[in-house]
Amino acid sequence: MSLIPENRLAELSGDDVKRYSRHLILPEVGWEGQQRLKAAKVLIVGTGGLGAPLALYLAAAGVGTLGLVDFDTVEASNLQRQIIHSTRDIDRPKVASARDRIRGINPDIKVITHNTRLSSANALEILRNYDVVADGTDNFPTRYLVNDACVLLGIPTVYGSIYQFEGQASVFYAKKGPCYRCLYPAPPPPGLVPSCGEGGVLGVLPGIIGCIQANEVIKLIVDADEHEGRSLIGRLLLFDAWQLKFRELALDKEPACPICGEQPTIHDLVDYEEFCGLKREEAEVPVKAISARDLKARLDAGDRIQLIDVREPHERAIFQFEGAKAIPFGQLIRRKEEFNPEIDAVFICKIGQRSIYAIRALRDAGYTGRMFNLKDGSNAWARDVDPSLPQY
Ligand SMILES: [Zn+2]
Repeated sequence: MSLIPENRLAELSGDDVKRYSRHLILPEVGWEGQQRLKAAKVLIVGTGGLGAPLALYLAAAGVGTLGLVDFDTVEASNLQRQIIHSTRDIDRPKVASARDRIRGINPDIKVITHNTRLSSANALEILRNYDVVADGTDNFPTRYLVNDACVLLGIPTVYGSIYQFEGQASVFYAKKGPCYRCLYPAPPPPGLVPSCGEGGVLGVLPGIIGCIQANEVIKLIVDADEHEGRSLIGRLLLFDAWQLKFRELALDKEPACPICGEQPTIHDLVDYEEFCGLKREEAEVPVKAISARDLKARLDAGDRIQLIDVREPHERAIFQFEGAKAIPFGQLIRRKEEFNPEIDAVFICKIGQRSIYAIRALRDAGYTGRMFNLKDGSNAWARDVDPSLPQY
């Protein structure tokens, strides 16, 4: 059965014929395919690296209703890859910036902005109004949330993810194939898989993966499988930008999948932060934090403090943290004898996340000294104490 049934096909106008003529003359899309595109409602979760090409191409292709979910504002560091936003959009809500750009490309389509964080409380309410969901999120809790909501609502998810030089894409549609949980039944332990904010990403990579997602969204809507096409349902596409290699894995539906399997045990959305271990860890091992301003005050007062910079060498090349001993995360345990447990230690990374894991790892390894996490990392130091230093 088509995602867009016969009775929803939209009328095409004379202007539509001009605008979409290159689609109309493709037999595989044609008049009816364009009618389906015009009738379709697609939700894009995240208007970042993946959401940018998704929104631009789906708008250009004439998808009649585009929903955008994002709670973030545009930052300078986004512009290296999030090409839907412009320099003048810095500090604006991403959904507003994206909406303006979409209107410039195609004023005929309807844009619905959801300037909010997608959560268990609002996901079903938002997603139920759409035919397809394109997942452009950058974190595991939201990815599981989008998957579960789509399975419960019977909507396909067009999945993409990126890290450094590697990307993945697939289509999860429980009615016809596996879901995200069939592929990844459990999230990785927190901290094991760094985010693009910590590990970096080649700017063009989300462009490539996001375009593949846009391609799959359009194919689902125009029923490509009925026209000798083949969707990514049941296939995981792996892309390595540095080696320029595409690989593909066959994915099977997992009969024991807790949400789309034969005897599902999940019937409603859960707490995804907790599922991904983010809450539990916080509760088990509280880590003391110190703000950049408080650290500066203590240093100025002459307090003896050992500063430990756990950033990688290529990050320290962006700026050196004055007075800090550089010990990359991977060497910490081996070099723990270099610390003096009698003196307070402050751990520094870029955004104050790896430093938390550093403190926990040292504590687990038996270090007994007092340890503090520099809250929000070296970026906070650059923001609040020494604006001559770069935030990156
Ligand atoms: Zn499943």
